[in-house]
Order: sequence, then structure tokens, then C-alpha cells
Amino acid sequence: MKFYKVITYGCQMNVHESEKLAGMLEELGYKSTDDDKKANIIVFNTCCVRENAEQRALGNIGALKPLKKRRKDLIIAVGGCMMQQNGKAAMLKDRYPFVDVIFGTHNLSMFKEYVEKRLQTGKSLIKIVDDDGKIIENVPKARTSYPNAWVNIMYGCNNFCTYCIVPYVRGREKSREPEEILKEVESLVKQGYKEITLLGQNVDSYGKTLKTPCDFADLIEKIAKIDGKFRIRFMSNHPKDINEKLIRVMMSSDKICKSIHLPIQAGSDRILDLMNRRYTQEKYLEEVKMIRSFYPDFAITTDIMIGFPTETEEDFLETLKVVNEIRYDGAFTFVYSKRSGTKAAEMDGQVPEEVKKDRIIRLVDRQNEINREKSLKYVNEVVEVLCEDYDSKKGIYQGRDDRGRMIYFTSEKDLIGEFVNVKITKTGGITLHGEII
Ligand code: SF4
Repeated sequence: MKFYKVITYGCQMNVHESEKLAGMLEELGYKSTDDDKKANIIVFNTCCVRENAEQRALGNIGALKPLKKRRKDLIIAVGGCMMQQNGKAAMLKDRYPFVDVIFGTHNLSMFKEYVEKRLQTGKSLIKIVDDDGKIIENVPKARTSYPNAWVNIMYGCNNFCTYCIVPYVRGREKSREPEEILKEVESLVKQGYKEITLLGQNVDSYGKTLKTPCDFADLIEKIAKIDGKFRIRFMSNHPKDINEKLIRVMMSSDKICKSIHLPIQAGSDRILDLMNRRYTQEKYLEEVKMIRSFYPDFAITTDIMIGFPTETEEDFLETLKVVNEIRYDGAFTFVYSKRSGTKAAEMDGQVPEEVKKDRIIRLVDRQNEINREKSLKYVNEVVEVLCEDYDSKKGIYQGRDDRGRMIYFTSEKDLIGEFVNVKITKTGGITLHGEII
């Protein structure tokens, strides 16, 4: 028996790409393991969005040196968007000559061939290619998140937010043909998956590169017509592009979850402009108003970045103002950190660490307070929950409702992958607990 281990850094996009790497290895007869010592091949799927993820990956690759010394047959492969950055692959090979295969994001679908080649020749190989604008379909996937499944609908990004490295390493936007996406979702629903999450850096731009017009709202409308009981989620939307047509389509089908992730990043127009986000606070607030005019309980979550270069206390207070006004259902909060290769890294006026720390604490405290206040209101609500996981230590199941709220409950029988009606009975701060009814 041959074993593989894939180590993933970064976002959901990378988690799904790791499923593709695992799928190719399973086609070669490898089985999954968590144990480095048992693995015949260890793959690092790196991320370059944050410098600390890069440092962690490099540290973990370096830590394998003694094992590789003892076991010459162990194959170490490194891929992901960090390798796609200028000079990074060469740097890696120089620092860690024991790495066997190095590849990037644009040739991920060739990984299986690279491994075969390495096995046949015994020679290491580095293959980094530029984006050729093509999309390779039917890459095998070893999915790991039943009853949820991830589906790429597009790749790349054209937005060039000044703090972000993604457009430089993942290339320009390109959309998969709707027929290919529909085929994949149909097959997943037939296999019993109950929640499909469509992935794209900016799903609202979906379709712009297609010959036959089909925008994102058209796409999810078609997906919602697929037979079977399942849910549709997606991420991420961009406030500069979101429109009423999308919300109308979301309201037209019970299969489409009534939740949207709308990253605001900052509340100050001056900072939004420096970030090249291309919307203002006023436009963003109008969009939220429009969404809630269709359904006041629409769940809205966001990303917020603190301490972008030149951010003043007044700018930060604008962000807090938006948080108080919108009362998000959840917020991923980040402290800005310099990402070399981006425009923001060259900007003057980097904010001192202690100021960033103070602001993030105030922001997180406020959002937690909002979460707690909102949670209390949910007590006694009956919601349909998709049961996703079981914690054997606590003896408790967990699942989400269509607004993305995680709810914990007990059951005598195994419910993973089933929809159940749960009455929310209490909150534990921000967590929700309920009983099946
Ligand atoms: S929309 Fe902005 S933040 Fe998101 S991937 Fe594109 S450039 Fe990066």
C-alpha cells in the first residue's frame, strides 16, 4: 500500500485544490494518511496571500529534511500560489534541494504526470508555467467535506486590490462553461452531496469571459433547477458588482441559501480608494439596504481589514460605524500586514503594530457583542439544519441553517448528511444549541 499526505495553507480555494491533488494521487493508487512517517509522498499546497502562511510552509518543508535523509524514496512535492510568485520556486530549490517536485497553480492538473515522471526517472523537476487562459476540466477530486462539496466556477481575478497578491499569481479571470458546472453539480447531487458551494475570487464577475452570455445570477438559477434536495452557497461577492438581479434569483428558490458574504474591508472612503475597492461606504450601505428590502433576515457576513497604510482613528471609526449600522451576522477580521509584490507594500504611512492591535481588539469586541445580541433573539426559532459533523468527545452533532448559523444538538442516530428541523433552545454566548423536533 502507498500513502500520501497533502498539507494545505490558505483559503477555501486552496482546500478544494488540495482535493484535486489528492484525487490525482488516488488515481495513482495512493491512499490518504496523516502520518508523515507512513507517507510515500507529501505534498505542500502553499499560499502566498499572507506572509506568515509562507513562513509556516517553508518551516514545515525544512522540518522534513531529516526524514527525507532517512528515506530517500519519500517524494516531497510543493505547489500552490506561493510557487507562482517570481523567483520563489528557484529560491525553494536552492534552500531545500531535497524537494522532488515543484509546480504552480496554472499547471496543477499536470501534477499526476509530474509524479509519474519523478517515479520513472528518479530526477527532481520544477515546472512553473504562465497562465494560458485555458481551463482543464475533469480533474479527479478526492472530496473531504461531505455533505458539502466545493465547485470552482471561475479562476483568477481582475480587480487588483492594492493589498492583494492574488491577481499576480492566479492570473486574469476566466469562467468555466455553465454546462460543465451544471454537469459537476448534477453528479454531486446524485452522489448524495447536500450543499454545493460555488467558488470564485469574485463570483459577481462570472461569465464575462464566456462566448455565450451567462452571468452569475443566470448560473445559480440554472443550478437551482437541478432535481433533488440540496443547498447552494457561494463565495465571494464583490460590493462593486453585486446587483438586484442576483438577489431576485436568490429569493426565487429555497435551494439558494439566504446568506451572502460581502467583504467591506474598510468603512472609510479614503481607505477604500487607496485599497482600489471601487465602491464607497454609501454605495455599500445602499446595497445592504437593497438586499434587506427583499428579506430583512438575509444573513450578511463580511471581511474587515484593520491598519491599512495611513488608516487614522477617524478612518477606523468609519469602519466601526458600518459594523454598528449593518450588524453583520459574522465578520472575518484581519490586521493588515505588508505583502511584498503589492502596491500597498510600497505605500508610506504604515500603521504602528500597537495601534493595529488596539483597533482589532475594539472591532472584535464590538462584533462579538453583536453576535451575542443576535444569538439571543434566535432562541425559540425552528430552523432546518443540514447536519454536517459529529463531535465524538462531546457526543454532539453540528450543522448550519440556510443563513449559515452553526447549531449544536444531540441525536440517538447518525444524522450526518441529513436535513433536520431543530428548535433553538439556548445560546452559549455566540454558539446556538437546539433540540430536534
Ligand atoms: S477581489 Fe481584490 S481581494 Fe479579492 S482576490 Fe481579487 S484582488 Fe484579491
